[in-house]
Amino acid sequence: MPDATATNLPGSTEVDENELVRVRFCPSPTGDPHVGMLRTALFNWAFARRHQGVFVFRIEDTDTVRDTEQSYEAVVDAVSWLGLEWDEGPGVGGDFGPYRQSQRRDIYREVVERLLESGDAYRCYCTPEELNQRREEARAAGRDSGYDGRCRDLTPGQVGTFEAENRPAVVRFRVPDGDWEFDDLIRGPMTFKSEFVSDFVLVRANGDPLYPLVNPVDDALMRITHVLRGEDLLSSTPRQLALHQALARIGIGSGRTPRFGHLPYVMGQGNKKLSKRDPESAFSRYQRDGFLPEGLANYLGLLGWSMGDDVEFYSLAQMAEAFDLDRVNASPARFDLKKCTAVNSLWVRALDPADLAARMLPFLIGAEVLPDEPTEEQLEILRRATPLVQERMELLSQAVGLLGFLFTGSPGCGEFRLDPDDAAKVLDDSGRRVAATAESALRALPDWDIPSIEDALRVALVEGLGLKPRLAFGPVRVAVTGRRVSPPLFESLELLGRERSLARLAAVAGP
Ligand code: GLU
Ligand code: ZN
Repeated sequence: MPDATATNLPGSTEVDENELVRVRFCPSPTGDPHVGMLRTALFNWAFARRHQGVFVFRIEDTDTVRDTEQSYEAVVDAVSWLGLEWDEGPGVGGDFGPYRQSQRRDIYREVVERLLESGDAYRCYCTPEELNQRREEARAAGRDSGYDGRCRDLTPGQVGTFEAENRPAVVRFRVPDGDWEFDDLIRGPMTFKSEFVSDFVLVRANGDPLYPLVNPVDDALMRITHVLRGEDLLSSTPRQLALHQALARIGIGSGRTPRFGHLPYVMGQGNKKLSKRDPESAFSRYQRDGFLPEGLANYLGLLGWSMGDDVEFYSLAQMAEAFDLDRVNASPARFDLKKCTAVNSLWVRALDPADLAARMLPFLIGAEVLPDEPTEEQLEILRRATPLVQERMELLSQAVGLLGFLFTGSPGCGEFRLDPDDAAKVLDDSGRRVAATAESALRALPDWDIPSIEDALRVALVEGLGLKPRLAFGPVRVAVTGRRVSPPLFESLELLGRERSLARLAAVAGP
């Protein structure tokens, strides 16, 4: 029996001294990028940075049916949006390229030739029907139903017959007998029984190389030292270890098998694994809703890793300094959109106001509340308004609702509209009378500044009409900002300016 090749035995540490850490993020570009995948990218990035290593970005696009160029671009954009700079990969190149597997087919062809020569791989002529039938029989007899090894040792004569029949052949890997053990960097010692690791297909009959081949081959050729990936891939690890050992024997790669660590599942609603169907899964929504890259990256960091000491607010740079696998939890992490939003709001508050203003701008332009090229005056209003909303905002998209009123109603900025629900609630007869009183009090003001505005409204509405502040200012707020939730009222009036403020009050003023 060939030695039951155990690697990564207990006791191996995360990183060897003098070892250049090389990790990879290697998504398959199918569909929209999702947050689970970005969590994997983040942990790899942080591990690389923590160890002054190399973060490789590789695209696993060998599935010609499911992979799309659009998805490729989306995942590249998502990773760079998050701020995870890669050292090798799309757009940057590197010594081990190309970094798209669709451009590496010649490499795989050559590796397969060599595996066939060394006897680590063989052609399998079994038809799908034959495989099915034998699988059923094995199942019925209570035997393991993996590939039974029928073509492992065909005689030249048998091969000749199959070839003469023009039977299509896949290439299979000859998995050595023996149990598979390795020390998962996160989950500890793992054992896979020999019977569950049967000879697997490397290349389809049509010549397409498959994931079980190309993924370890590239990890070997790209000198990957640590494979950090989702737990869903755990069951593929023994096969990959086996292939790595064969590659080492025939001199492909550094000869060192990477160490494997499997990141915990990310769970969504109802404690089920977060899937593409969950609304919180798609990365695009975070961009659209106006999460900050800093906020989303921070939250993704909390999904299975902890910085310790209950620290939950940290930047990528801080994560890069502190990241280690010891504090990656093996048990599933739950994705909590509320918490993610709360973390984001901390980041909104932490920004320099000028930076926040610049980041809100595309949302205001996108909502057509500001023109594509805002005037200096509009930008100045936005800059002055930013500190007023910074504490009240969780997401950049909320800038439209909170600040739109400052711009709407002027050319190129869309209509000013009252929120119908808010108007119905607040601008009843008495609300409209309040607006009328406010209008005449403000009209009389010689100076349009915050203290004068506040003073005039207090005198006219609170003292004059004897109203509680909430009832006094609510109608004014809805009349001029359109909503019951707005930046502080007096500041809003000041920013909006005398003319437009009075016009909006007059527009709703009642008898
Ligand atoms: N392309 C694989 C996937 O997206 C990557 C698997 C791995 O990290 O080994 O699932
Ligand atoms: Zn076969």
